[in-house]
Amino acid sequence: MSITDKIKALLKNRVVPHAIIIESADAESAVRLITQAAVCSSADKPCGECEMCKKAADLNHADIKIYRGDGTAKPYPVDLIRDIRMDAFIKPNEAEKKVYVLDKADNMSPQAQNALLKVFEEPPEFAVFVITCKNKSTLLDTILSRAVIFSEYLDEKSDEKILLTAHKIVEAMVAPYELELLKLCYDLSSDKDALRNTLSELQNVFRNIYLEKSGVSTAVAVPQSSVLTVQNAVDAIDAAEQIKNAITRNANNSLNATRMCALLRAAVGK
Ligand SMILES: [Zn+2]
Repeated sequence: MSITDKIKALLKNRVVPHAIIIESADAESAVRLITQAAVCSSADKPCGECEMCKKAADLNHADIKIYRGDGTAKPYPVDLIRDIRMDAFIKPNEAEKKVYVLDKADNMSPQAQNALLKVFEEPPEFAVFVITCKNKSTLLDTILSRAVIFSEYLDEKSDEKILLTAHKIVEAMVAPYELELLKLCYDLSSDKDALRNTLSELQNVFRNIYLEKSGVSTAVAVPQSSVLTVQNAVDAIDAAEQIKNAITRNANNSLNATRMCALLRAAVGK
């Protein structure tokens, strides 16, 4: 499935998410699709036919602001991000949404990313941020964890194993006893790379649960989502973030596993 197909699937009759990250060498068509969908005045967004869609296609829509980067920190100084943040609270001119495209935003400075994070955490209801990059690992985990991510670089095989483990973790998180989760955490804690990737995937799963629970997506993320709340999903994403930060500092695997297990269980109220 191409990125544009995935985006089309996400957008079908749904709300455009507040923050979208596109990891791709060429994100132009994906960006066009999202910007059109955000401003389109038809029911089936993007229709490609209405005045809003045409203006968007011509890069001539007052509510779509495109910033051009070059993969370095330079085009995105923290002052620019602060200006964007303030502007994001001013209502759109003619569309229902206002879109900020930060093109080729790889390697944005941590200060600029933290400034952006503030608006990601409490976005105005009409604002949509689209970040494109060649390599999303140059963005802060806190930014990544609050966005819907579309990536062109998916290693299907290893992804499958990681995805399976992430799903097992969700199952164990809501199980009556913690034993199964503890085992999974122990198995993972000796391999830091696998642990990191699994936690990122787990965040993806909970992001999908979040989208489903808040009515943005109608796809059922995992069977366990019926017993979870929007708050559980947010807490679980943050817990995974804390674990990621903790494991890079701490070398004690069994301590990491115990802590990971406790944090994940607590996130879902166990
Ligand atoms: Zn339209």
